[in-house]
Parts: sequence; C-alpha cells; structure tokens
Amino acid sequence: MMLQPLELALISDDLLRIVWNDGQTRVYSVRELREWCPCASCRERRMAPPPPLTSLTVLSPAEAAPLRVAAMQPVGRYAYSIHFSDGHDTGIYTLETLHELGRQVDEAPGADEGTTHPS
Ligand SMILES: [Zn+2]
Repeated sequence: MMLQPLELALISDDLLRIVWNDGQTRVYSVRELREWCPCASCRERRMAPPPPLTSLTVLSPAEAAPLRVAAMQPVGRYAYSIHFSDGHDTGIYTLETLHELGRQVDEAPGADEGTTHPS
C-alpha cells in the first residue's frame, strides 16, 4: 500500500499532526522535523562529530526563536517540502521519512499533548 497522508494539520505553533492512510495518527514537533531535515547540508551537519564538551553553542536569534512551519508543500506524490520559520526550506521529506518520524498517538481529537493514555 502506498503511504499517503489523509490529513495534515498544525495543532499548535510547534506541533504537526498527520493522519495516515494506514490508520496511524502521528504527531511531530517542528523542532524534530527541522532536526531531521534530509537536505544535503543538514545531513552533513548531523554526520559531523559532536563539538567538544567545553565549547559553548551560541544560538543565532533565528535559532533561538520558536521554530514554526511557515509552509508545507507537496512535491510530486511522494514527498513534502517544509519551509521553516528560520528560513530553511531545502528539505524534501519523503512520505516514508515522515512516517518514521514523530510518534504515534491515539486519535483523540482535542486530547492534550503529553497526556498519557492508560492501557
Ligand atoms: Zn536542511
């Protein structure tokens, strides 16, 4: 079965929800999506060795500001390009990648983010 999102929704400024055609509902933090950006420069950055513990990371104002999804556009039938509020828009997220990220939630409209469901 070809994965397809049935519904894409920003449920808050920094949370994206996708309802998939396999019955899963997954929630994604915008920060996480940005973190996993599949574009070449971000992949390179992730593969770089971590900085020494003594170095201070200084966030640029854009990085320190709350991150949002400015736009999300389908690319063909298999991917989405996500334009982030920090100006980064070169990441093309395949549906497979999107389906692997985030975390699955029960479909419970209006349920609070972070609520744990008794099993
Ligand atoms: Zn990127």
